[in-house]
Amino acid sequence: MQTHFSDTQLLDPQIREADAILRKCVHCGFCTATCPTYVMTGDERDSPRGRIWLMRELLETPDSVSSDTAFHLDRCLGCLACTTTCPSGVDYHHLIEIGRDRMDSQVRRPLMDRVMRRMLAHVIPHAARFRLMIRLGRIGNMFAPVMPGRIRAALAKLPRSLPPFDRVGSKTMVFGPRVKATRHVILLAGCAQRALDPAINASTVRVLNKLGVRVTVRSEAFCCGALAHHIGEASAARSAIRSTLLAWRDEIRKGEVDAIVVNASGCGTMVKDYEHVVGDDPELKDIAAQVAALTCDISELLADLPLNTIIDPSPEGRGVVAYHSACSLQHGQKIHDLPVSLLRQAGFEVRQPLEPHLCCGSAGVYNILQPEMADGLRQRKLDNIRGTGAPIVAAGNIGCIQQLDDEIPVRHTIQFIDYASGGPPPA
Ligand code: SF4
Ligand code: SF4
Repeated sequence: MQTHFSDTQLLDPQIREADAILRKCVHCGFCTATCPTYVMTGDERDSPRGRIWLMRELLETPDSVSSDTAFHLDRCLGCLACTTTCPSGVDYHHLIEIGRDRMDSQVRRPLMDRVMRRMLAHVIPHAARFRLMIRLGRIGNMFAPVMPGRIRAALAKLPRSLPPFDRVGSKTMVFGPRVKATRHVILLAGCAQRALDPAINASTVRVLNKLGVRVTVRSEAFCCGALAHHIGEASAARSAIRSTLLAWRDEIRKGEVDAIVVNASGCGTMVKDYEHVVGDDPELKDIAAQVAALTCDISELLADLPLNTIIDPSPEGRGVVAYHSACSLQHGQKIHDLPVSLLRQAGFEVRQPLEPHLCCGSAGVYNILQPEMADGLRQRKLDNIRGTGAPIVAAGNIGCIQQLDDEIPVRHTIQFIDYASGGPPPA
C-alpha cells in the first residue's frame, strides 16, 4: 500500500512503525474471508483490508477522522485471524494498537462508553473487586428494564453462579511437588480467571506438581494488563504491567526460573508481547524482554514434560471432547495442534468444530462493549460446537470459557489433563 506521510510525521516512532506495516499490505483481500466481523456484516470497513485503509487515513490526516472510523475500528475483535491468513506478513496486531491509540486522542467517545471503559479497566483486573461487582450487578439486574441498553447488556453477561474465591495468587505462594523438583516455574494466576473459575489454577498446580515442577505464584502479578491495554486505559494497563514485571524480576534474580507459565491464552499473548508493549521504558524494557522470552502457554510447557508418566491408563478411552481453539492461542501465539495432541495423549477423542478460525465473540471485554456482534458470533460458534456431537468442550482461555459455557459445558484443557491423571472430573 502506498503511504504519504510527511517527513515531520515520520519523525514520530509510532508513525514510522505504522508506515512500515501499512506498506506491506498489497490489498489482496485474502484476510477478508477469515475475518469474523466481515463474515457477519459483509461490509468492507469491517474487514482487515478496510480497517487498514481507514487507519492509513486516520494516521495520515488525523483531522479528517470521523466517528465512522471509530465505529469500524471499535468493531474489530483483535482476534488476529487476519495475521494467520495474510500472505504478506502484515503486522495487524501492532497496527490496530497504534490506530486505536491515535483514534482515542482524536475522537471523543460518548460519555457512557467512557464510563464503561474506565470502570471495566479498574474493576476486572482486581479479582476481589470483580467479584464484588458481580454481586452488586446481580442486585442491579432487578432494575435492568429501566437501565440504559449498554448497562443492560453488560448485566446480562454476569455469570449465573460464583464459585468460591481462588486462593491461588491471593498471596505469594510456592507449590512444591512431593518429590524433588526438576523445574521451577512462575504461574500467572490471572484476574478474571481467579474471580470466575478457581478450578483452572488448582488443576494447573496439581498437574505441574505431579510432573515434578515447583510452581511459584506472586500476588503482585495480579493482572497482565491486557484488558486495560486493549481498551485504551493506558495508566491502568501500565500499573498492572509494572507490578507484574517487578515481582517477576525478583523471582528471576534468584536464578531458578525455567519458565513463566500462563494458562489463559489472552494473557499469554500479552505477556509474550511485553517487550513491544513497554517499548523504551527505561525501568521495564530489560525485564520485559527477559519475561517475554521465558513465557509459555501451559500447553507448550506440558509438551516438554513426560506427560505419559502421570496419565492413568484408560484402555476404553475417556470419551469425546470438542476442542475450541481460542483466537489468542491459535492466531495470537500460533499454537494450533498442541492442545489437541495433549488431549489425545490423555485418552480423549477430540473433535474440532467447523469454522475453527472464527472468534467466539468474547475477545476480552468486547462482548460487553459490542454485545450485538459478540452475541452473533457466540451463536455461530455454539451451532458449530453442537455439530460435533461432543458432550463437553475444552478451551484454553477463560474469556472463551465464560462466553460459550452453556448447555454444553466448557472447561479448560488443563482440567481434562488433570482428570486423566487422577484429578476431579472437569464437569
Ligand atoms: S491479506 Fe494481508 S496483504 Fe492482503 S489485504 Fe489482508 S492484510 Fe493486506
Ligand atoms: S483482528 Fe479479527 S476482527 Fe479485527 S480485522 Fe483482524 S480478523 Fe477482523
